[in-house]
Amino acid sequence: MTTTAAPLAAFTALFAEPAGSPIRELFPYLSRPGMISLAGGYPSTSLFDAQGLAQAATHAMAQGASALQYGATEGLPALREALAQQARDRGMQASAGDVLVTTGSQQAFDLLVRVLIEPGDTVLVEVPAYPATLQALRLAQANIVSIPMDEHGLQTDALAQLLADLPAHQRPKLLYTVPNFSNPRGTLLSAQRRTALVELALQYGFWIAEDDPYGELRFDAASGQAVTVPDTLRATAQTLAAPGHNPVVYLSSLSKTVAPALRVGWMLTDAAMQRRCTVAKQTVDLCTSPLAQMVAASYLQSGRYAGTVQRARQEYQRRMQALVHGLNALPGQPIRCSTPAGGMFVWAQIDRDLEPQRLFDAAVSQSVVYVPGKAFYPSQPDIHTLRMSFAAPEVPQIEQAVQRLAQAVQQVLS
Ligand code: PMP
Repeated sequence: MTTTAAPLAAFTALFAEPAGSPIRELFPYLSRPGMISLAGGYPSTSLFDAQGLAQAATHAMAQGASALQYGATEGLPALREALAQQARDRGMQASAGDVLVTTGSQQAFDLLVRVLIEPGDTVLVEVPAYPATLQALRLAQANIVSIPMDEHGLQTDALAQLLADLPAHQRPKLLYTVPNFSNPRGTLLSAQRRTALVELALQYGFWIAEDDPYGELRFDAASGQAVTVPDTLRATAQTLAAPGHNPVVYLSSLSKTVAPALRVGWMLTDAAMQRRCTVAKQTVDLCTSPLAQMVAASYLQSGRYAGTVQRARQEYQRRMQALVHGLNALPGQPIRCSTPAGGMFVWAQIDRDLEPQRLFDAAVSQSVVYVPGKAFYPSQPDIHTLRMSFAAPEVPQIEQAVQRLAQAVQQVLS
């Protein structure tokens, strides 16, 4: 005999009809045979240091029980030290205790939102923005305010004006930016703007989430020298803020330089923020996988990291050039793109007479996929934009992708 069941209790209002990630929703297209994907920000599989990681994994397993047991929420001491060293190499003051290891940098931002943002709080976001950031802020019911960008990154003059105009009850608590080779726009924020941004944060008392998964992936300038990446915002703030009051929370990750499957990211911040994020993390996953942390620590200690990053810089620059040159050579330049100085992304404007959805459908029918620009706007999207990642496909595939895009353009115009 079956009991008559009452209807199950309802989902929360936020999860009644949740919107999924616009990028993850492209996944079904990616598995189609012959598809070339310029969509996700996936690192190149040919750049994974499989041998070095296998050695690191063997070394991790040789640690026995400690690799297989739960670990401290803050992270494994050896990994915290290796990441603090990376921070020092990037000009920031850091010791192992200042680093909170997170399950990808995605989690680091989510923790920050949990400890800072209540429904209705204002969060400033550079736009176009990384969609997962927008998703986290929507779920927190933040009041998302867009800050425009140009080819030099976030426009600090516009920000200063906006802050002066915002009513007191809308004072922002947090600003989100990717200063180095932003996702999706590929821009590098100038040193002058970095100083201006930190000064505004100190003047108005908001936190800055400095998301930096791409800073190491800088290309060579025409001179052959590596592009100069200005000091991080956190390092900039060290000279401007009182000790222990740095408003910049620095987030980074091993996903783009070593392997995303490790799910190792990190947060560098002062003690008060770290303590709160640690407590928030306790309820999310107790700790980041100790096994993955040990693999990451052994890998960083092995001395192979620098070579791996160097290879990635060179290869991504070749791929970027293939994409940019190919698009610029298309007759009439229907897809006009930026030339990034690092990272994984090219941002493009499409001709006004190309209807964006029709172009996307035509591209898919030609077996090439990219991310339509509307995914990167919290509101009022510029729909005649798109993001392409050159990181995953090899150069010949990129050349083929450009030809397919040219055919898609023809298909829409005919
Ligand atoms: N921030 C930005 C700007 C990203 O592009 C990504 C990955 N696409 C992340 C954070 C998340 O990276 P992770 O794998 O470390 O969670």
